[in-house]
Amino acid sequence: MRSAYLALFVVALGCEPSPVVNAPTNATPAPSASVVAAPGPSAHPEVPPVPTAAPVASVAESLPPVTKSGTKLTWLGHAAFKLVTPKGKVLYVDPWITNPKNPTGKDDLAKIDKADLILVTHGHFDHVGDAAAIAKKTKAKLVSTFDLGKAMVQYAGYPKDLVGFDTQGNFGGEISLLDGEVDVTFVPAVHSSAVQNAKQDAFAAGNPGGFIIAVKGGPVVYHTGDTDLFSDMALVPSKRPVTVMLACIGDHFVMGPDRAAEAVKLVHPALVVPMHFGTFPVLTGTPEAFDGELKKRGLVTKLQTLQVGATLDL
Ligand SMILES: [Zn+2]
Repeated sequence: MRSAYLALFVVALGCEPSPVVNAPTNATPAPSASVVAAPGPSAHPEVPPVPTAAPVASVAESLPPVTKSGTKLTWLGHAAFKLVTPKGKVLYVDPWITNPKNPTGKDDLAKIDKADLILVTHGHFDHVGDAAAIAKKTKAKLVSTFDLGKAMVQYAGYPKDLVGFDTQGNFGGEISLLDGEVDVTFVPAVHSSAVQNAKQDAFAAGNPGGFIIAVKGGPVVYHTGDTDLFSDMALVPSKRPVTVMLACIGDHFVMGPDRAAEAVKLVHPALVVPMHFGTFPVLTGTPEAFDGELKKRGLVTKLQTLQVGATLDL
């Protein structure tokens, strides 16, 4: 018995599934399932490749497998991500493309000519970001709570005809989008939500949230939005195990590294990508501190720190 347990343990360690990360480049498609670098003029960070063995039963029980479906997830700085599905559909989440962490933000925004959906977690300016500008040129529909959609149309310039019941929901609801290729579940966050107009007056925009984005045949991505740690995060993986958790770690306005590590413990994703740090001086949480907090807890989730513009192949 003892040797059987030992063998199982060794197998589990050796076969932990993970994706590969590539540094930012101007090339869009990545030839293999891994992490691809971000488009950017200067940064060419090296990310060590990760073994991609198929999960064995013992690992599958503890962590969901990392898919190799052709889904691409790119970090654009702060809480902004671009997700491209295997069928080529383009989703943006909290698309503040012109954030201070993205040195090519203006160019990146100007180059956007395709988007199918824009998901916004709450009304703060650093999450609404460039949503209206992208929608106006791509006709991307807004995925948000009903209240946030109303407020974004009224105060933030989102085109009214791109905000409808088909892409709006509220917490606990799951909607099937893009001919069934993507399911989005609305989950709560512990934060606040107000939309600003051009004069920076603030207006109520419902409750803040996060998204569980399930790509058919691909990854399940949990974007926490801005939030503190809360115990109901443990329910997030109840329907589908989470492949990638996009976790805010910056502290001050959101959870910091220690509480974010506790959140990872509850959600139990295969990978966690830190976000919402360093954009402003007050967001003092760092990936290094987060790494320390994860290690302190002995968590098996893999920390996947991305450079701005880097793409994860999932
Ligand atoms: Zn916020």
